[in-house]
Amino acid sequence: MKVQKFGGTSVGSPQRIRDVASLIKSFPGQNIIVLSAMSGTTNSLLEIVNAIREGKKKEAYDFTNTLYEKYRKVIGDLYSSEESKEKASHIVDQLFDEIKNLIEKPYTTLTEKEIVSKGELISTNLMYLYLMEEGEKVALIPALDFMKIDANGDPDFDFIEEKLGKILSNLGNVDTIITQGFICRNPKGEVDNLLRGGSDYTASIIGAAVNAEEVDIWTDIDGMHNNDPRFVEETSPVHNLHFEEAAELAYFGAKILHPTCILPAKINNIPVRLLNTMEPEAEGTLINNDLERGSIKAVAAKDNITAIKIKSSRMLLAYGFLKKVFEVFEKHRTPIDMIATSEVGVSLTIDDDSHLSQILEDLEELGTVTVDKNMVIICVVGDLEWQNKGFEARALDALRNIPVRMISYGGSNYNISFLIDQSNKTKALRLLSYHLF
Ligand code: ASP
Ligand code: MG
Repeated sequence: MKVQKFGGTSVGSPQRIRDVASLIKSFPGQNIIVLSAMSGTTNSLLEIVNAIREGKKKEAYDFTNTLYEKYRKVIGDLYSSEESKEKASHIVDQLFDEIKNLIEKPYTTLTEKEIVSKGELISTNLMYLYLMEEGEKVALIPALDFMKIDANGDPDFDFIEEKLGKILSNLGNVDTIITQGFICRNPKGEVDNLLRGGSDYTASIIGAAVNAEEVDIWTDIDGMHNNDPRFVEETSPVHNLHFEEAAELAYFGAKILHPTCILPAKINNIPVRLLNTMEPEAEGTLINNDLERGSIKAVAAKDNITAIKIKSSRMLLAYGFLKKVFEVFEKHRTPIDMIATSEVGVSLTIDDDSHLSQILEDLEELGTVTVDKNMVIICVVGDLEWQNKGFEARALDALRNIPVRMISYGGSNYNISFLIDQSNKTKALRLLSYHLF
């Protein structure tokens, strides 16, 4: 059994839904299909949520009606039989009635979770009805019946495995099993979600739970590229990546795969393949536990990074200094990305600067603090095991004419990272492509 996930753009219009449906029908064996909401829908739903939160009821209704009209059109276009149109309308009407009910009630965090869940509920129902119309042996299984997170927001694997196993064993003779990405329940049983872009995560959690042969992530680009095509011409798809390489790339800006998706697949050794809906025959990118020795795979960049340097003569030959520094970040629940240390100071970077002023206030107690904003982490990924000679030199050489604020190497066997100013990003990415590939 394979798990196949289609993102928002892959199901973004009636024509796209039809194309994906014919792809689904061509899959051999039994497949679990995980769908995102149609592109734009989650954002539109969040506009409704914001209007409710701000007490702007009329605005909330306006946004709701606009989105509703969009779906009326999709339904009118997608199905050929009146029966399917009626069934789809019935479901969509009901889901929009639930949104309208929530507009009338006082705002709670549950309002948001309930409302954003509608996007995936709609897309999966539309696809299910379309495949039924097409005569496919298809079942729709509600993610809210088996996808559960614990108090930390992590998947409750025991529950999911058991629940999903039961559901699947009761299905009978079906080729295609559809479910929602992104949405789940929390320990209180409330509707919740796996955070923005979480459908990839759903796919890999399901892949792990059913011990799938493979998890395929379908988007509209032919796999992970060796550099960012928005900034660099002539990038090419990388055909094989180790899980760790893919994790670095996903985290450091390669938008194609959500970083959380890697872990469940890696732990359970389930290959993940990135494929292109527009070009289904293309090889794409296969991510697994095989490492291609001695090769640099790709470059990625992460924007909006803040660098913080703490200098203190008290750090010299002292222990416990770094602990105090880290405790500040722990206290303000802010993850650190890159670190570089010297005998008298430490530089580190953060991506979430929402608590920056409190962090700086606390760090001032430990030493002299300087901050550089609008920085970019450039990450070079590949077999960068320290015994290999010359790879870090090649990357450094490529950036010879660019001011580098920090370098981090040796933290993993798979990357070397450079921190540079935002204004040099495009130049750095191009130079690295030119020198490395
Ligand atoms: N629909 C959700 C989002 O837009 C989840 C996803 O697409 O992966 O974030
Ligand atoms: Mg996505």
